Amino acid sequence: MASMDGKTIEELRKLLVDRWRNIGRRAEDAPGTDAPAAASGLDSQAEIIDIAQNLEQLERDSSLAEQERRKLIAVERALAKMATGSFGICEDCGEEIPPKRLLVLPEAKFCANCQTVQERQNARTRSAAAFR
Ligand SMILES: [Zn+2]
Repeated sequence: MASMDGKTIEELRKLLVDRWRNIGRRAEDAPGTDAPAAASGLDSQAEIIDIAQNLEQLERDSSLAEQERRKLIAVERALAKMATGSFGICEDCGEEIPPKRLLVLPEAKFCANCQTVQERQNARTRSAAAFR
């Protein structure tokens, strides 16, 4: 996160909270879709606990469409990483994800290179499963 300035981080946090709200609104009746603490400016410890609880609820909640739920979880994870200071680091190779990529996809877990590798692997796993 060293190369990212506070302004960029703030902008990305806003993007994430906006995404959360947009997905959450469509899934309004589902439990566990309160706006994350990040939106209300709580201290970061409370924020981490809140996000962890939300994540737990989301993973159990079967009333949300699978795709929506996955998106919400990705956004939650990104906010949690922001609170712990590991935001913007590729989960695979540990390199910094360029801010330009994060502004397009703030919940990105991987740098562009690792994302491509992951997608190829997923496609292979899926087509293998289809033949079972
Ligand atoms: Zn990577």
